[in-house]
Amino acid sequence: MPPFRIVIVGGGIAGLTAAIALRGPNRQITVLEQSRLNKEIGALISLQPNASRIVEQTWGLKKELAAARSMVDEGFRIYNTDGALVNSVPLSTTAEYGAERLCFHRRDFHDQLKEAALSTERAGEPVILRTASRVVDCDPEAGSVTLEDGGVLSADFIVAADGIHSVIRKHVLQEEPSPLPTGHSGEFFFECIRSEILEKEEPDFCSKINPRDPYTSMMVAHNCRLVMGPGRQGEVFGIVALVPDEQMNEDPSAKQSWVAEGNLEKMLDTFSEFPKWMTGIFKHSSDLGLWQLRDLDPLKTWHRGRVMLIGDAAHAMLPTQGQGASQAIEDSEALGAYFEGITEPPSAEILSQTMENIFQARYSRVSLIQAYSREAAKPAAEKKTVTLRPDEFMKFNCMYKGAKAWSNQQIPTMA
Ligand SMILES: Cc1cc2nc3c(=O)[nH]c(=O)nc-3n(C[C@H](O)[C@H](O)[C@H](O)COP(=O)(O)OP(=O)(O)OC[C@H]3O[C@@H](n4cnc5c(N)ncnc54)[C@H](O)[C@@H]3O)c2cc1C
Repeated sequence: MPPFRIVIVGGGIAGLTAAIALRGPNRQITVLEQSRLNKEIGALISLQPNASRIVEQTWGLKKELAAARSMVDEGFRIYNTDGALVNSVPLSTTAEYGAERLCFHRRDFHDQLKEAALSTERAGEPVILRTASRVVDCDPEAGSVTLEDGGVLSADFIVAADGIHSVIRKHVLQEEPSPLPTGHSGEFFFECIRSEILEKEEPDFCSKINPRDPYTSMMVAHNCRLVMGPGRQGEVFGIVALVPDEQMNEDPSAKQSWVAEGNLEKMLDTFSEFPKWMTGIFKHSSDLGLWQLRDLDPLKTWHRGRVMLIGDAAHAMLPTQGQGASQAIEDSEALGAYFEGITEPPSAEILSQTMENIFQARYSRVSLIQAYSREAAKPAAEKKTVTLRPDEFMKFNCMYKGAKAWSNQQIPTMA
């Protein structure tokens, strides 16, 4: 029997988890990644309980989570600019949701996903990972992609996991929706700082915020905020700085990406309201990146012909709920569940029905999370269109038990 050939475009969190979820008998999976995968940005990332449950329990990646030095995030601590703790919100979710909110250094998590995709110990054949392979064109009906070097790859099924600036999306939609600058804020993110450097050189900072404590700390002044936390079990400390667009002084039409360079002086200027003991730690970071916050309106479909969009390519969202990567992981779980048992190349009809089932199972949930993430970035006074309270929304996010179970449940919708 010929193998079921699957090509995945993009080796980010969506692409690698899709590869892990889709591994199985008689499947040949190839991941095409444009970069050399040797420079994942050094920021922290968190997985919400809905995603950590899938990674740990559905895919059995316990060993990989440990190797990625994941940390359970025990809660939020909010400080004023005098360094006084003004609010503390415990986050432990195991008792209620059976899974935790986990924090990682992005690179460690990505490396471990790569290990699992390439492992010889998991079901099916190891994934073929082709780096420096940029896709420039796609024919959804024929099931083919064209690489920058002119090479063409054909497949029975193509997963487009090529991120917010997807080149494949326009072939699926037959139009080009642009990621929207939100006007609300942009983010600077620092290469993580070693905690021992902070302990040695920034005693004032450490007397107020212990860089090894398993908490997410926030410091807020007017419309700027810092979100910080430990990674690698306390070995490093990560910082993300959110600022309004008008204070970023960047070209709003520029295509920003994870690896755009930030400017430390501009950043210090923007954060001049913050105390010196706080901003003084920025200089210890070896690298500063800049990312303008963008998202997408919900798309009219995620599939066409032999191609399906997942992750940020399908539903890029603002990071205010920390759900971007987690939703990509939910998509991958859905691929695994709905393609289970399909071991031979599916006919166009079976493939189309399977992709539509996934779209139906995922679309309203993801669209609501996109909308909620957008609203959380708005000033408090602006009119809200999502009626769920934050605690209800947390429950909505975290009670997720996989795409098939979800599609049988009663689903809250937008007002
Ligand atoms: C500052 C910041 C903090 C965040 N924090 C969190 C968080 O704490 N929790 C959370 O859940 N989410 C978070 N997110 C969001 C999360 O990172 C994204 O939603 C998630 O990484 C999406 O994964 P993806 O694989 O779909 O896209 P990407 O990570 O963008 O990956 C796409 C991949 O495709 C490759 N690619 C692109 N085009 C091509 C092409 N033409 N050919 C071949 N390869 C291609 C790219 O090189 C890349 O490797 C954060 C985002 C930002 C910016």
